[in-house]
Amino acid sequence: MMAANELRDIPHESVTTPLPEQCEIAIIGGGIMGLSLAYNLTQAGLRDVVVLERGYIAQGASGRNGGGVRQQWSTEVNIRLMQESVALCKRFAVELGVNVWFRQGGYLFLARTDRELARLGKNIALQNRCGVATELISPSAAQNIVPELNLDGIVGAAYNPSDGVLFPWPFLWGYAQKAVQAGARLFTQTPIGGLHRASHGYTLHTPRGAIRARRVINAAGSWSPQIAAMLGIEIPTWPIRHEICSSEPLKPFLGPMVSELASGLYCSQSMRGEIVGGVNLPGHGASYDMGSSLEFLATYARRLTRLMPTLRNVKVLRQWAGPYDCSPDGNPILGAAPDDPDFFMASGFVGHGFMMAPIIGQLYAQWLGGGTKHDIFDMYQLARFTTGDDSAPKEDFNIG
Ligand SMILES: Cc1cc2nc3c(=O)[nH]c(=O)nc-3n(C[C@H](O)[C@H](O)[C@H](O)COP(=O)(O)OP(=O)(O)OC[C@H]3O[C@@H](n4cnc5c(N)ncnc54)[C@H](O)[C@@H]3O)c2cc1C
Repeated sequence: MMAANELRDIPHESVTTPLPEQCEIAIIGGGIMGLSLAYNLTQAGLRDVVVLERGYIAQGASGRNGGGVRQQWSTEVNIRLMQESVALCKRFAVELGVNVWFRQGGYLFLARTDRELARLGKNIALQNRCGVATELISPSAAQNIVPELNLDGIVGAAYNPSDGVLFPWPFLWGYAQKAVQAGARLFTQTPIGGLHRASHGYTLHTPRGAIRARRVINAAGSWSPQIAAMLGIEIPTWPIRHEICSSEPLKPFLGPMVSELASGLYCSQSMRGEIVGGVNLPGHGASYDMGSSLEFLATYARRLTRLMPTLRNVKVLRQWAGPYDCSPDGNPILGAAPDDPDFFMASGFVGHGFMMAPIIGQLYAQWLGGGTKHDIFDMYQLARFTTGDDSAPKEDFNIG
């Protein structure tokens, strides 16, 4: 088995290899969504699958995220999707031959007001009905789980022990490797510069040539609106920079991912001992800026050391940022475009696309491979924004 910290040559086509003239399905974007799709489509029996990534795999949000995987959500559909995703994460290392360091240390959400506590309680009732064992616990019970917590101002918490964290990169390597072994072709350094409707599908234009595809999946994450615009389709998502940082490695002490509702502060300890975390910085508009700011570092340091004073002298080793792919209702955009039944979408996953990708890839492959179409593809279709269809369940727990 490949170790998580073992940088392997991910199988991809050489930059001098010409594109094939045509394929059955072209996937635009080599992030977690595109690669999960490629892997799952090959498992569903489709061999003629091509992934086109403009840079390197994990160049976008997928290579920059916190690796949090949780089942604590406010809608039944997301809770059930995430139960499936967690099950897939547990099997990933064995089935794909890559150690992704998945550690189920739980997720601990902290409330500072009675209103926040009531919100947690409402979500927990739904999670319990779905079979997720989240508990509403007292501040002192939270401190039993994380003894370093400063309980000043904490009124209670939600804790689910089977949530967890993983190391994102090997997850992408695993999908890429198995997809290519099963016949998919992965072209990096291949930006899509043009996309046109053609007879029996689409023509995709890249600097290394054109390729015809019968079906196209737009998995370009925060850049999906630009791809859709090439067909005159408007996707109402926008990028927001989300910053994150990692400390020097510490002796293991932190079991769960800890998140504070009001500030959006979150932190977890990686298997290597680093404290990885971030915080919301309100007041910043749409941007592809992926730079790092002192404002983030100061805000994060203040919030984190208030919550865990023992971290006061810890050194930050790395700071980086990536785009949250935001949608108007916090839900993703899935399914076929209204007038383009062979142009599919997989974007708008805000800050939780990594944890959703295993199950979204599987359900898409089930459908496009000729099997059952899951309800989410109608529920979250793009047309809801133009028809005024307000029936999709509203997720209000897009935090941490
Ligand atoms: C700091 C941070 C922390 C996060 N924490 C978590 C977390 O704890 N848990 C979680 O589940 N999610 C988290 N997320 C969100 C998660 O990372 C994303 O939802 C997920 O990675 C989206 O995957 P994707 O494949 O859709 O997009 P991306 O990973 O962005 O991939 C899109 C790809 O498309 C490529 N592309 C763009 N334009 C073109 C083009 N013209 N031609 C070809 N290719 C193109 C890009 O280069 C990119 O590689 C976090 C995000 C950030 C930024």
